[in-house]
Amino acid sequence: TAVLEGKVAFVTGGSRGIGEAVALRLAEDGADVALTCQHGVERAASVVDRIKALGRRAWAVSADCADPAAVRDAVDRAAAEFGRLDILVNNAGVGVLGPVEDLSPADVDRVLNVNVRAPFIASQAALRHMTEGGRIINIGSCMAERVAFSGGSLYATSKTALTGLTKSLARELGPRGITANLIHPGPIETDMNPSDGPGAETQRGFTALGRYGQPSDVAATVAHLAGAGGRYITGAAIAVDGGFAA
Ligand code: NDP
Repeated sequence: TAVLEGKVAFVTGGSRGIGEAVALRLAEDGADVALTCQHGVERAASVVDRIKALGRRAWAVSADCADPAAVRDAVDRAAAEFGRLDILVNNAGVGVLGPVEDLSPADVDRVLNVNVRAPFIASQAALRHMTEGGRIINIGSCMAERVAFSGGSLYATSKTALTGLTKSLARELGPRGITANLIHPGPIETDMNPSDGPGAETQRGFTALGRYGQPSDVAATVAHLAGAGGRYITGAAIAVDGGFAA
């Protein structure tokens, strides 16, 4: 039997990039997967098709993480669709970089709503369905550990907030047998961070390995935390960053 056979995962931002890789990897490991997107409904539908081709159930919905009611509703609908919820991956995120004085209150609201409030709300919603063995996995950033270049004030603030959320959830949910962990990816080749983008050479230079990682590298650690190997890991932050923070 596959290690996640019978488990149900919910992945925010599963249409592209890291979330897509996470959704597919959890399905390969046996889970049924619900995923969200914002605008990318066609990409999300293609991920659903590929998961179904693996013999797993899959379901996608467009739900803007900036809208708490939409996030809550998506979690509830996924749990209703599959009859349970075991793994929540708070992956959807936005990166707004720039000099601190140039960032508007609207930028601040947008980034904090998507990167912080949505994981908070999704965790609340998921906990109404999760039982013993549940897993909450938040996707942070290497910028929460080391702000290696300027322009990261808002983004790093949002990702650092996930440290407080993750540790608090770990404490509060431990007695219920539910774990909460945080993954800090380094430069990962996605639409958000193309390996030939303007800042790519700088980012590559800050890693110990001297190269970008792939979405599947992050997905492998999500799979580890979600599976049996993650049963005694909680409240932890795990870097999948090629040594960016070293
Ligand atoms: P991408 O921009 O490539 O993909 C983002 C995904 O999130 C898409 O599926 C997108 O959906 C979804 N999404 C974005 N905003 C919303 C929203 N408001 N509501 C619902 N879904 C949304 O990003 P990555 O895969 O690169 O990043 C994933 C996570 O990893 C983010 O939290 C990011 O901060 C973090 N990270 C990424 C790094 C990197 O180098 N790539 C480094 C460190 C952290 P749609 O297709 O509909 O737009």
